[in-house]
Amino acid sequence: MRQFAVIGLGRFGESLVRTLVGMGCQVLAVDSRENKVEEIAAVATRAVQADATDEAALRELGLRNFDVAVVAIGEDMQASILVTVLLKELGVKYVVAKAINEIHGKVLEKIGADKVIFPERDMGVRLAHHLAARNVLDYIELSPEYSIEEIVATPKLANKSLGQLDLRARLGVSVIALKRPPDQVVIAPGANDMVREGDVLVLVGKRSALRRLEEV
Ligand code: ATP
Repeated sequence: MRQFAVIGLGRFGESLVRTLVGMGCQVLAVDSRENKVEEIAAVATRAVQADATDEAALRELGLRNFDVAVVAIGEDMQASILVTVLLKELGVKYVVAKAINEIHGKVLEKIGADKVIFPERDMGVRLAHHLAARNVLDYIELSPEYSIEEIVATPKLANKSLGQLDLRARLGVSVIALKRPPDQVVIAPGANDMVREGDVLVLVGKRSALRRLEEV
């Protein structure tokens, strides 16, 4: 079973621990505040009160064999940076670090974080797409160039097969799933699958191409 460590039990860290445990993962939760550790103790596989910037304390946690450690410390930038360095030095294979701004993110990348996340910024981007384009349900950036987008089929797209819509040839956009309310899902649909008004298309492609399918 994969083992995860979450360091910092603010709103983000706590939500991460609860969700991972709910998915059946083993999770070690760490925070320097006693009340945070007590709160999560009944949920996490193991909950430890420790100052993660203290190398000896971190070493004692035996994190070397963990698959993933997430540094979910935000406000105390210095602590977030220090803990990320220490985790990499201890040999944790994959360290995910939460950044509160671009500079913080750049530093985390430079010192060896395997993945840097910007939850507030990314959630803002997703919500903006959902709000500005009425048929966009969700939006995930894969890279600066490519995104995944869920759009509702408007009358313009409806009552045609995927072959007729020919999105791949016309726009370089692939349909990875077709969802039909209430609960039908076709994964990797083919050219003969029909799109009905109200269906949800899960698309992957260049952002510029996806924009052309957004109805403002
Ligand atoms: P969120 O937005 O997720 O609520 P945040 O970005 O505001 O969090 P903080 O509140 O700064 O982040 O930190 C999250 C948690 O990390 C806090 O519960 C804090 O006690 C813990 N924390 C901060 N520094 C350390 C440290 N050196 N060792 C262990 N835990 C720490």
